[in-house]
Amino acid sequence: MTPWFDPSRVFINGQWRAPLGGETLPVLDPSTGREFARIARGGADDIDAAVHASQAAMDGEWGAMPAYLRGRILARLGQLVLDHTDQLAAMEAADVGKPLTQARADVIALARYCEFYAGAADKLMGETIPFQPGFTVYTLREPHGVTGHIVPWNYPMQIIGRSVGGALAAGNACVLKPAEEACLTALAFADLAHQAGLPAGALNVVPGLGVEAGAALTAHPGIRHLSFTGSVATGRRVQAAAAENAVPVTLELGGKSPQLVFADADLDAALPYLVNAGIQNAGQTCSAASRILVERSIYPQVCAAMAEAYRGLTVAPAMADARVGPLISARQKGIVERFLSMADPAHILARGHLADDLPEGGHYIAPALIAGPGPDHPLAQDEIFGPVQIILPFEDEDDAIRIANGTAYGLVASIWSRDGGRQMRLAERLRAGQVFVNNYGAAGGVELPFGGTGLSGHGREKGFEALYAFTTLKTVAAHHG
Ligand code: NDP
Repeated sequence: MTPWFDPSRVFINGQWRAPLGGETLPVLDPSTGREFARIARGGADDIDAAVHASQAAMDGEWGAMPAYLRGRILARLGQLVLDHTDQLAAMEAADVGKPLTQARADVIALARYCEFYAGAADKLMGETIPFQPGFTVYTLREPHGVTGHIVPWNYPMQIIGRSVGGALAAGNACVLKPAEEACLTALAFADLAHQAGLPAGALNVVPGLGVEAGAALTAHPGIRHLSFTGSVATGRRVQAAAAENAVPVTLELGGKSPQLVFADADLDAALPYLVNAGIQNAGQTCSAASRILVERSIYPQVCAAMAEAYRGLTVAPAMADARVGPLISARQKGIVERFLSMADPAHILARGHLADDLPEGGHYIAPALIAGPGPDHPLAQDEIFGPVQIILPFEDEDDAIRIANGTAYGLVASIWSRDGGRQMRLAERLRAGQVFVNNYGAAGGVELPFGGTGLSGHGREKGFEALYAFTTLKTVAAHHG
């Protein structure tokens, strides 16, 4: 898969150039383990140049641009993304090992973010506030200035869309550091944004290592807001860096999200969601439903149905477009294998199977459905980030809530039940940033505010909430007598 641009360069101030350190990093195909391209190893100097380019954009054409024109550029960008669906999907499949159908869904989601924020750009309004006689008081929502965006490798296009899309719509200029393992679509996005007419410096992309380019971005005093999606450990570092510069930060750090299945649920409707939300993107999804909690009376039935579904899962290279592809890296495969080694073999209800003739260097794991390690076991507590689901029984609503809320995370949750009262009660009691009733994920809904509590992070992206986060509020109190 050859990108239509040279990926070994950084994109700064509307131009492609070699990284100042002159070094590159390999791009490996997770389906084969083979190198097929090189990306720039951007460093602190490149980040500094990118921040200065963004500052100049804020002081120039981009900062002065009316909101409706920002929206128009985003709308053009959304169309260009759609026009490049096949190329972007193939690029993502090769770069992160995502089965083609899932990669295409990410392209569509990226286009939807561009469309949504295109329409929202000129609808971001302040308020007038009733105050004392002789005053007119109103609020202005203003961009922070230069925003930093650190994106992981699991859903590069979706996370760039929700993060950079919202920040641009609100009038910020962005410096994006994609994950070293997934830079290609970020660079493609920069190229398309340029084609769409985004002024120089409004979006800069600097690939590189997290500990180099990423750390330099979070520490840069010119950055006025940070948006980070990734692990808890790195999120803590990002927040500490933000604290040094006293800037706001949005953290989305993954989860251990539950689906609660009650005896009165429509099981035929639920089953595809129960399984798919665990194995989509080979389980490397922040909002993966990695815990399935089932009311005791139907627990054997749900275990049997899910086990049968698991036995029908095939793992294959991304281009073969099976339900499950490879994991991103040998390292990630090692993490998942360590978790699997903690499982009592008697608890493994079912596994999918690996396709014949898999390329040797690929990072393949057969999905595993595990029953009964107990809600406090690390398998039921920690984010595994692989195609592994834990299924546990519960006795009643209180027990379901105790188990569901009994991890350090709180990203999303779902309730499967026909009882309207229960849906309302539990939606209130679940500790999560999003709760789904009789569905899971709401098809990704770009309009729906998203983020977590606890170790899942804080702040919200997606929908209008992201625009609020990407602006700072100014109150103007005019005394006119
Ligand atoms: P990280 O959190 O380390 O990586 C996420 C992003 O942060 C990447 O762009 C990375 O760059 C960057 N980064 C790394 N170190 C720093 C730093 N010191 N300062 C600034 N940015 C930095 O996740 P990993 O890729 O190491 O994955 C480890 C685990 O994290 C997974 O097993 C999974 O559990 C979790 N995870 C959760 C995600 C989510 O969606 N919530 C997404 C990805 C991972 P680079 O990749 O170049 O190092």
